[in-house]
Amino acid sequence: MNVVPGSFKKCVGIKLGWEQGYRLREMPPRRLNTASGNPTLDTNRKGENCILMRDINKIIIHCSATPEGRDIDAETIRDWHVNGNKWSDIGYHYVIRLDGELETGRSIDKVGAHVKGHNKDSIGICYIGGMDSDGNPKDTMTPEQESTMREIIFALRIVADKEMTLHGHNEYSSKACPSFKVSEKFADIL
Ligand SMILES: [Zn+2]
Repeated sequence: MNVVPGSFKKCVGIKLGWEQGYRLREMPPRRLNTASGNPTLDTNRKGENCILMRDINKIIIHCSATPEGRDIDAETIRDWHVNGNKWSDIGYHYVIRLDGELETGRSIDKVGAHVKGHNKDSIGICYIGGMDSDGNPKDTMTPEQESTMREIIFALRIVADKEMTLHGHNEYSSKACPSFKVSEKFADIL
């Protein structure tokens, strides 16, 4: 894994982008025990440290099912989900642009809307792409997107302080999303 300790603050405190003001200012944060026995992280109202309010066990990868090379942002997906699907917010927690930029979607302390039956204990990350120009499923993940994907997964696991398992949407439904087998592409970090 190419993430060095010095980048923890960057990748955890900034790239996770808890715009509610949560920031990881020191490691390790104080631990709390949840009812399930899984540790979560503590924070305070000043925004010190981070918190995972939900009991999260899985990270699930998605694609936006858009043609290779077309860059769209989280705000566009939010519009599809809010105005199109009439959901409360974007279904994913993170969106990764073609150039690898990480955008925040739904706050990770909130249950997402990305895999039927598996939203409650998961985090959904969507990379932009996943289709060829004819609309057929294709792994279009750019090296920059893959790099960011690995970084955010690594950071989330640190913050959660547990081994959240990694999956693709297609493990839970007949959909092609994310247009590759996570168990193969990310076999080294499952
Ligand atoms: Zn999906």
